[in-house]
Amino acid sequence: MKILAIDTSCDETAVAITEGRRIISNAIYSQIVIHKKWGGVVPNLAKRAHEEHIDLVIEEAVSKCKKRTSSFSLKDIDAFAVTYGPGLGMALGVGINKARELSFKYQKPFVGVNHMAGHIYSSFVQNSAGNPKREISFPYLALLISGGHTELVIFKDHDEFEVIGETLDDAAGEALDKAAKMMGLGYPGGAVIEKLAKKGRVDFHTFPRPMKRSGDLNFSFSGLKTSLFYYYRELPEKEKTNQLYDLAASYQEAVFDTVIFKLDKAMYKTGITSLVVGGGVGVNEYLRGKIRALVKKHDGTVYFPARKYLYGDNAAMIGVAAYFKAKKNLYIKNPQELEREPRLRLSE
Ligand code: ZN
Repeated sequence: MKILAIDTSCDETAVAITEGRRIISNAIYSQIVIHKKWGGVVPNLAKRAHEEHIDLVIEEAVSKCKKRTSSFSLKDIDAFAVTYGPGLGMALGVGINKARELSFKYQKPFVGVNHMAGHIYSSFVQNSAGNPKREISFPYLALLISGGHTELVIFKDHDEFEVIGETLDDAAGEALDKAAKMMGLGYPGGAVIEKLAKKGRVDFHTFPRPMKRSGDLNFSFSGLKTSLFYYYRELPEKEKTNQLYDLAASYQEAVFDTVIFKLDKAMYKTGITSLVVGGGVGVNEYLRGKIRALVKKHDGTVYFPARKYLYGDNAAMIGVAAYFKAKKNLYIKNPQELEREPRLRLSE
């Protein structure tokens, strides 16, 4: 079953053609240069850029398919899939309208996918040769960690999720981006902080570990950001430069230490030691090292997305999630009824 999937939930215009768990072709137009000067994603600019690029990105995905099968055309697609939430409302609408239009034009079934479910499936996305093999055997614990989300989820079965922990304010990636912005390090800041942190001392300054004693599996990162703000404000200008590496290292440590603490707790609480990781912050090597060590302690297994681009927003993961929904016959009967849901949750 060939699926054409679209994701326009944030600042990437993403289209993929998938078959089962395999990617046949993948195309992404990144808007990062557009939003960079604003220090964050601007919704109406994102919407406009999606509108301007969506047809081109679809064309690119189709032409990549043609390189493999010259006779390929959109008529060969068996179903159209689209992310309908969570995300920026205006941005989501562009992808939904386009997928609806294609489904109507080619008279093929329509699948709506939760963006976060896509991130969970990203560890099971295969290349065109069917690698990595990774059989899916439930249940899994999923850590979703990105600029917009920090969630702990039990992945019970296809399309069956239970959120057991989530952030009450900022996401982990947001806490890193905002810290970078505060220190004048540019956007997106997580990657800059990772780079600087490699040269710094993690024990230079002890930032708070928020919610550690909360007893539940939820996160909160806004206090951590505030703590950095006051600390940084009081520093003499010269020290701000001298301590940059150490500040990046100890701040990043506070964010990741909190994540690992809750993940550890979730593994004990649920008894589930098979872990999947999704979301842009997962590319951070230091974090992955910490996750591997934790999973080893629990004698478990961890699957990360097989390629770097599969961590961030992409449509291949949406195509794979859609495939398992299609197998359960979870099609949207009337495509006009699929509404964008910016605050969509996984448990719904
Ligand atoms: Zn995402």
